Amino acid sequence: MQRRLLVCLAATVALAACQREQAAPAPTATPPAPTPAASTHDFKPAIDAGDFVEHVKVLASDAFEGRGPGTPGEDKSVEYIKAQMQRIGLKPGNNGEWFQTVPMVETTADPNTTLTLTVDGKPRTLKMGSDMVVGTTSGKPDVSIKDSPLVFVGYGVNAPEQHWNDYAGLDVKGKTVVMLVNDPGFHVNDPKLFEGKRMTYYGRWTYKYEEAARQGAAAALIIHDTPGASYGWDVVKNSWSGAQYALPADSDPDPRLPAQGWLTGDQAKSLFADSGLDLDALRAAANKPGFKPVPMKATLSLDLKSTITQKQSRNVIGRLGGTTHPDEAIVYMAHWDHLGKHPDEPGDNIYNGAVDNASGVSGILEIAEAFKHQQPAPERSVLFVSVTLEESGLLGSKYYVAHPAIPLDKTVGVINLDALSVDGKTRDLTVVGMGSSQLEDVLKGVADKMSLALHSESHPEAGGYFRSDHFNFAKAGVPALDIGSGDDLTEGGTAAGEKAGKDYNDHRYHKPGDQYDAATWKVEGVVEDLDAAYAVGRELTASQQWPQWYPNNPFKAARDKMMAGKTAVAPTP
Ligand SMILES: [Zn+2]
Repeated sequence: MQRRLLVCLAATVALAACQREQAAPAPTATPPAPTPAASTHDFKPAIDAGDFVEHVKVLASDAFEGRGPGTPGEDKSVEYIKAQMQRIGLKPGNNGEWFQTVPMVETTADPNTTLTLTVDGKPRTLKMGSDMVVGTTSGKPDVSIKDSPLVFVGYGVNAPEQHWNDYAGLDVKGKTVVMLVNDPGFHVNDPKLFEGKRMTYYGRWTYKYEEAARQGAAAALIIHDTPGASYGWDVVKNSWSGAQYALPADSDPDPRLPAQGWLTGDQAKSLFADSGLDLDALRAAANKPGFKPVPMKATLSLDLKSTITQKQSRNVIGRLGGTTHPDEAIVYMAHWDHLGKHPDEPGDNIYNGAVDNASGVSGILEIAEAFKHQQPAPERSVLFVSVTLEESGLLGSKYYVAHPAIPLDKTVGVINLDALSVDGKTRDLTVVGMGSSQLEDVLKGVADKMSLALHSESHPEAGGYFRSDHFNFAKAGVPALDIGSGDDLTEGGTAAGEKAGKDYNDHRYHKPGDQYDAATWKVEGVVEDLDAAYAVGRELTASQQWPQWYPNNPFKAARDKMMAGKTAVAPTP
């Protein structure tokens, strides 16, 4: 999975970039559900390669039209997942319902929008796309900002556990904050500063906007630089043009800015120079502890017009009740949505998404089957959540976390499966964002027994941990494990694994060619990945362990607050 995810990140990086590739999701009302074709397949009680393939074949079939949210492919997908959960013997997991409706707001900014930055009474007009990008997630068709003073806030980071606050002593109400991408550790390449080259939560552009909103800013602009962002301006430009997706503000706990965007490096440089500031010197200052924000002699004015459309899609939730602690749960998650059908494209224009992510959905169904037949039955409950709108910005998982079927302080942890490798058996497993929580200690015990090595993803600077559905659980404080297939193939080793991963990324990732192929798929490795993922949950459901975030993890404070006064038992090593 991580090879997939990685290149996903390397190629399109920003989630928004993935959004751009999505077939226009047109969810409106819930139409009558078609009945999925009855399967004659004889499902086994254990995790089984044949069963896994059977699920993938159905979910990634042309009949499911690439599982685009709001299309007939959605109806077929969610009905199939529900029917399989019923067959396995799960119960409806969302307060007696199988489905959880996820509302979504689609916002398309006027492409002719301009932004005015005034320095010393001299206005300069920045054009959308070539000089800057700007948008709103406020759900408002008209956003007007007049003469908002600019302040340079370094990286725009407020990280108590790092003793770092770029907003210290500053009131940004009504102001526009201007900031750098990534974090000081990345730019200085000092492993003792944040996490060095490895991207932290604070390096993500999404975090920077949320923090600016918490601080009460009117707008936020990130200065683009290619190494810091890990992608060029084209990716920013493409991912910010066209429709953007968000939850409605009233169903999302995250604060929103009236307007947010990016400036090109060149525009920023000349803006700073005109304001009598040296951007390079300020970059250096921002890398040092104790950095103080710098007011700029400039203001921002903006009239932003957007087209707003309300839509909806569905998560599917099945539950296996625990025998002695049914109120506590382990969550398995996999997104069902993919990019749909693109009728305007010649040739095969169905984005089947067999690996991404029919594989993960099939995986959690197989794990559900194993739990259902296990003796003794699990003591804690197990929740299987197949979320929607991952490709539109992790919205289904975000909505679930804001409206959990089992309270988050009763949720022991979450295991996410997204894009499993079908290249064969490996000697290893990938842990994305390795070094996050004690869930990894449980996985380590499992992996040792299976003689599998554990390692972090190969490009931690891309911040993979913050780009998949489990991240929404992490942000809310729930320990989250993102397990991926390994790289070290038993046939051919790491070189063959990397080659296979690159081949997928170059030829099938987010393309119509991501389909099931009996001739080339080797699913023995998937079975091993699923066995490992299942064993972690099996151990947690048979104990009263409450794995915790490792010290200094940015999400630890949220969990500690949530669990205050409750008995939390750490796993025994
Ligand atoms: Zn995916």
